[in-house]
Amino acid sequence: MEETNVPSCFCGRPASLRTAWTDNNAGRRFYGCANHGHGFRRRSCNFFSWYDPPLNPRSRAIIVGLLRKVKAMERGRRSERIM
Ligand SMILES: [Zn+2]
Repeated sequence: MEETNVPSCFCGRPASLRTAWTDNNAGRRFYGCANHGHGFRRRSCNFFSWYDPPLNPRSRAIIVGLLRKVKAMERGRRSERIM
């Protein structure tokens, strides 16, 4: 595990490492609230801190292209199962 210098979110818990999948930051990891997505009762703060350095345009284009392919393949597999 890469758990050196994990920041704390505003809830006072070690932030959790997540991966962004937006076109601009595909595959780039960031720290977010540790409470995010853990049930309804817990409120998450809006803590946000990048873990990976910014993507360079070339690797970003490659990752986005690969993501499109994976999504297309998944769509194909799903329709095969239906038929
Ligand atoms: Zn939090």
